[in-house]
Amino acid sequence: MAAVLVFLDNPGATLNKSERELLSLAASLGEVSAALASEAGTPYLDGVGSYGVKACYVPEDPDLGTYLVAGKAAFLAEAVRLLGAQVVLLGNSYEEKEIAARAGVRLAAGVITDVVALDPDGTATKSDFAGSYTVKCRVTTDTAVLTVKPNSFEAAEVGPAAGPRTISVGTALPAAAARITGRVDKPASGRPELTEARVIVAGGRGVEGNFAPLEELADALGGAVGASRAATDAGWIEHSAQIGQTGKTVSPQLYISAGISGAVQQKAGMQTAKVIVAVNKDADSPVFDIADFGIVGDLFTVLPQATEEIRKRRV
Ligand SMILES: Cc1cc2nc3c(=O)[nH]c(=O)nc-3n(C[C@H](O)[C@H](O)[C@H](O)COP(=O)(O)OP(=O)(O)OC[C@H]3O[C@@H](n4cnc5c(N)ncnc54)[C@H](O)[C@@H]3O)c2cc1C
Repeated sequence: MAAVLVFLDNPGATLNKSERELLSLAASLGEVSAALASEAGTPYLDGVGSYGVKACYVPEDPDLGTYLVAGKAAFLAEAVRLLGAQVVLLGNSYEEKEIAARAGVRLAAGVITDVVALDPDGTATKSDFAGSYTVKCRVTTDTAVLTVKPNSFEAAEVGPAAGPRTISVGTALPAAAARITGRVDKPASGRPELTEARVIVAGGRGVEGNFAPLEELADALGGAVGASRAATDAGWIEHSAQIGQTGKTVSPQLYISAGISGAVQQKAGMQTAKVIVAVNKDADSPVFDIADFGIVGDLFTVLPQATEEIRKRRV
């Protein structure tokens, strides 16, 4: 049975959705252990245990969580060596991809990022070059390091919540490792995180600065609000909402694109969504090339109608 190590970068109060997906994928591949970059509470550890994890590797240095990628990569590589892991799974944030790359160098292991599917023989599926190609690839070294896109795998617990045993890992931190000196919490919107949301309503230049109809539709569907770069550059919504090549990569079940033309850089961040619905008043807009459902119309008419209908059916 393969030894699989899941890297959990920022343990919160409880496991989030993408962490649960990673642990479920790991459980389907072999015997799972976890490497936690910082301290975690009992509810979190119990949650990890409910995915069949028997051992958690934790840093000996309690300050490791305050380091950026270099320190965490050193810790992860050491945990991989201690376990003798054949498969290492991480999330797909920019930080985690960099940790994967650095750990891969330390371990002389092959690394694949942006994984959306994994065959039993280790063949991974990912999209490349701003989503222009779907690529099948497989690591040929003894250890494979994979970063996995959220919403690509189902989360399924395998047993009752039970805290795994912890194994302390001493790590020689690189002298030049960057450190976090302060944090400011983002005000909570009450909506799910973009990268975790099952539903996203995204707006572009066509929104003309008014995201209210998108927010209302997102709230009716329990979704998140995203944007094209044109909308974030205009200052209509915060930059963290940008989806695309230079923004976030998302794979929700449903992506509603409103007033977005569908440039290749926008597609790069959202074309792995399961169902794409496009609302655009230009019937020739390229966004309709990738949409499963297209509505030619004014978003300020179409979205409120959709919201009203959804609310009616929910009652
Ligand atoms: C290196 C690089 C990186 C980039 N990275 C990103 C990225 O990460 N994400 C990203 O999104 N872009 C990115 N871009 C920019 C990208 O090329 C496009 O310029 C951008 O996506 C366009 O945004 P838009 O679709 O909102 O605007 P537009 O292309 O101007 O499209 C607006 C659309 O709204 C429609 N519309 C207008 N009014 C309405 C209405 N009332 N109802 C319905 N439809 C309406 C119009 O028909 C049009 O199709 C990048 C570009 C470069 C060069």
